[in-house]
Amino acid sequence: MASGSIDYGRLDEGRNCNYWKVDPTLQFEARRIYPDAEFDWAEDVLSEFGAVLGERMADTADRIDEAGHELRSFDKYGNRRNEVEYHPLLREQEEIVYERFGVTHDAFHAPPGRDEPVGLSHTLLMQALLSYVDSGFCCPVSMTTGAAIVLDKFDDGDLEEYFEALTARDLDEHIEGAMFLTEEQGGSDVGANETRAERTDEDGVYELYGEKWFCSNIDAEGALALARTPDAPEGTEGLSLFLVPRTKPNGAVNDSHFRRLKDKLGTASVPTGEIEFEGAEAYLVGEERKGFKYMAEMMNFERLTNATGAVGVMGRALLEAKVRAANREAFGSPIEEYPLMRRDLVDLSVDYEAAVAFSFEAARLYDERERVGDDAAAYQLMRLFVPVAKYKTARMAVDTTSYAMEILGGNGYVREHTTERLLRDAQVLPIWEGPSNVLALDVLRALNRENAHEALLPYVREKLDAVDHPALESVAAEAESAFRDLQDALGTLAVEDDEYAQYHAKRLSDLLFDVVTAALFLDEAQWQIDEEADGRKALVARRFVETRFGDDDAYGVTSGSRFATEDDVFASIVKYDSVEPASLLDAEARASE
Ligand SMILES: Cc1cc2nc3c(=O)[nH]c(=O)nc-3n(C[C@H](O)[C@H](O)[C@H](O)COP(=O)(O)OP(=O)(O)OC[C@H]3O[C@@H](n4cnc5c(N)ncnc54)[C@H](O)[C@@H]3O)c2cc1C
Repeated sequence: MASGSIDYGRLDEGRNCNYWKVDPTLQFEARRIYPDAEFDWAEDVLSEFGAVLGERMADTADRIDEAGHELRSFDKYGNRRNEVEYHPLLREQEEIVYERFGVTHDAFHAPPGRDEPVGLSHTLLMQALLSYVDSGFCCPVSMTTGAAIVLDKFDDGDLEEYFEALTARDLDEHIEGAMFLTEEQGGSDVGANETRAERTDEDGVYELYGEKWFCSNIDAEGALALARTPDAPEGTEGLSLFLVPRTKPNGAVNDSHFRRLKDKLGTASVPTGEIEFEGAEAYLVGEERKGFKYMAEMMNFERLTNATGAVGVMGRALLEAKVRAANREAFGSPIEEYPLMRRDLVDLSVDYEAAVAFSFEAARLYDERERVGDDAAAYQLMRLFVPVAKYKTARMAVDTTSYAMEILGGNGYVREHTTERLLRDAQVLPIWEGPSNVLALDVLRALNRENAHEALLPYVREKLDAVDHPALESVAAEAESAFRDLQDALGTLAVEDDEYAQYHAKRLSDLLFDVVTAALFLDEAQWQIDEEADGRKALVARRFVETRFGDDDAYGVTSGSRFATEDDVFASIVKYDSVEPASLLDAEARASE
């Protein structure tokens, strides 16, 4: 996909445009990770979806955010209702996402124009685009796909009807998914779950008792919940997984009390509430006591969608910032012309490309494992990359949305300008699906239990070895040195005690993200030079490596660098102009002096 300059100044703000077309970074990654035939099919779908999002859903999402939803636990006679009264525009959003674009359906059943389903990478890419407008709505969409993945893998057929409804395209037959894990005494510590599951006379049918403290998409008919059978051991080994619908198959409201909705900072489009199960009818998924293992599958997918959702939020925030910087004049010139703003926009853009590259590499590995089956290396890498992607991109989304707001100045802080919502919505990304520390500890588990380093080292080695263009020499040398640091770090943690490893787990995850992303950028840069005679990704790689691994004295103030102020660098990284690879050789010569 060739680069092409984007004139952000022609937009008034980051809406009324096609989010797919204004995001060559997403286009580039999609081209890289989709199998060719799938990309040929998907390109038009992604473009149509990007247009509907930019021209319609950007507005509907704002209106839903303003209005929110209301919970009706009882009707006026005191009968249990457990219903959320949604803003009417939500139905339109559901029609667009589930019915017209088959975001969940197409990963399980052949979409129009294909004989087979598409990979989950496509679902994830669609969700990244959806997050340009509403990362809150991404939550039910991703849990619907996640619940379908779990039933597809582990249900023995008893819950087929629910699987079909979760993956249905027709909204009249469609239900949504949810995941109820967190209890008051434990979110990260899922093993502390106390919700009880009592067996009934009917095989596979249980009654749940207990309380769930954070239930997003609370009224989902395809919700999955963890609970403990009476004779089960403590901890995660004693947990079983149940499908617990809002209504029973006979249409009666299930025996639960939807206590209240949380009054949240953001993600207003998805209602999150508290549930007391009072003998709720629930159906066992798979076998008893394997619930945590089954839920881990859903969790991997939800963490990936958190990462690709973070990508979408960052993409939108960056778009708003670029549009404003091109249009806003201060001190007589558009603010994008000032050196500091150029540096801001270049660095925000490079951060964005890093988030996209790493997250969609994790998505590609997830997909590869699903397609190929027992591919040990793909599993090890996926298992390692998913928590890193979730941890890093969530925090990056908070930083990017916060700084984009600042680029819009005072307006950015005001409700009418979407940056305010983007920041509120982004702030949950580091918390749900596991906070940063918990994810960093999961990275240690992937290394210790799955020996993920065995797959990681050859993976990075292969990428670095493939770089041979002279314009990439100094960047590759920096990446090579950081790769040695990563190997040293892994070696150190392998011999140190657990306390030491935990203490350094987040910094290890930071280093891992930076080294893998540098290797990915180099790989992409080499490809772009070879295939498209374009050095744009090489510039992105250079700036990434410089900001992550550079050890400039005096914070770089004495370095002489004017990198982002150079017209061709700014136009290329921020506006997607292509760059002659030969022109990079001068900079390369200066770097090696
Ligand atoms: C808007 C929203 C929607 C949600 N929706 C759902 C949902 O649909 N389903 C669901 O099940 N849950 C949901 N949650 C809950 C969410 O997943 C949990 O809040 C989250 O996993 C953290 O758990 P906790 O709140 O118990 O915090 P804790 O686990 O108490 O964590 C508090 C802090 O302690 C840190 N910490 C914990 N253990 C360690 C350790 N060993 N070492 C170092 N630091 C540690 C964490 O990193 C965190 O910073 C939602 C939360 C929010 C805010």
